Amino acid sequence: PCTDFDMAYFHSYAHVGIHEEMIKDRVRTETYRAAIMQHKSYIEGKVVVDVGCGTGILSIFCAQAGAKRVYAVDASDIAVQANEVVKANNLSEKIIVLHGRVEDVEIDEEVDVIISEWMGYMLLYESMLGSVITARDRWLKCGGIILPSNATLYMAPVTHPDRYSESIDFWRNVYGIDMSAMMPLAKQCAFEEPSVETISGENVLTWPHMVKHVDCYTIQVHELESVTTRYKFKSMMRAPLHGFAFWFDVEFSGPATSPINTIANDPPVDGVQNKKRTNPNDALVLSTAPEDPPTHWQQTVIYFYDPVEVEQDQLIEGLVTLSQSKENRRFMNIHLEYTSGGRSFVKESVMR
Ligand code: SAH
Repeated sequence: PCTDFDMAYFHSYAHVGIHEEMIKDRVRTETYRAAIMQHKSYIEGKVVVDVGCGTGILSIFCAQAGAKRVYAVDASDIAVQANEVVKANNLSEKIIVLHGRVEDVEIDEEVDVIISEWMGYMLLYESMLGSVITARDRWLKCGGIILPSNATLYMAPVTHPDRYSESIDFWRNVYGIDMSAMMPLAKQCAFEEPSVETISGENVLTWPHMVKHVDCYTIQVHELESVTTRYKFKSMMRAPLHGFAFWFDVEFSGPATSPINTIANDPPVDGVQNKKRTNPNDALVLSTAPEDPPTHWQQTVIYFYDPVEVEQDQLIEGLVTLSQSKENRRFMNIHLEYTSGGRSFVKESVMR
């Protein structure tokens, strides 16, 4: 059922700003375009559905890659503009814009390809992946492909002294006045909610831990309602630990059973392919890791209210649960349990 929360969600995509931000994110948009061109042989003469087409950009890339027909589906009013863009580019014969939810619109044929840009902050925020699963189960032909084909969410302990002193230590001395009485409120306001910000590789204290791997061909909706992982890190240095950063990557490859050896021979698209990180199978990767070029997703940091000093080689362990909020499934509850050096605590937060 389409709830009021969904209405608000789709309404947020009717504004130009969000589409401008996504399209101007060149790492994102160019990796999608390169992935589409790399999979040309799967797209040429085939039927595609673009789950959440927004302005229609990915549908147009697919048409450029030779798709026979593209169903561009979006429940937001941005679909009106997508339709105008399609017309202005003389693609109305090929691209059919459907203004409605993927869960509700009708497509009277099976599709060969699903393309979608569904990833939210911390990968799972917004819970749009469920709609890609719905599209897959409704229309994808046996042997069809899903782009991206898999996704992985990571976490790692971070130190960020600048961020802490800027927001908290700042109150120690304000124009010569001791305002440290402000500090509890400042901590509450700065660190209660997850923070979307750009950190660098230098903030990260050790190798990341894999929180969740999603295979888009096999994942089921119920697996996304709640994701729990136990983590265990060994800090590579002595530092104040301020919290944990989360980021993800997605990979564009055919189904596990399909031959991928032909892909490596395709020519690069505008030289983009050469710049992208690829995995050993040569699949394109869109990464939002701190050591990679920044994207509009940045990273998401769950801060502690107070830093914890950790020694080199000190064990940091605990558990994280990410779950869809009961009040609004577009929101995400984050339950974090932490134990290190004889100290334990729990932090609950909500991403709204
Ligand atoms: N593909 C575009 C836009 C991506 S943003 C691009 O790459 O630039 C995600 C879009 O998916 C939004 O426009 C949103 O309205 C749409 N969307 C999310 N869930 C949907 C659903 N269940 N049915 C239809 N559209 C959906």
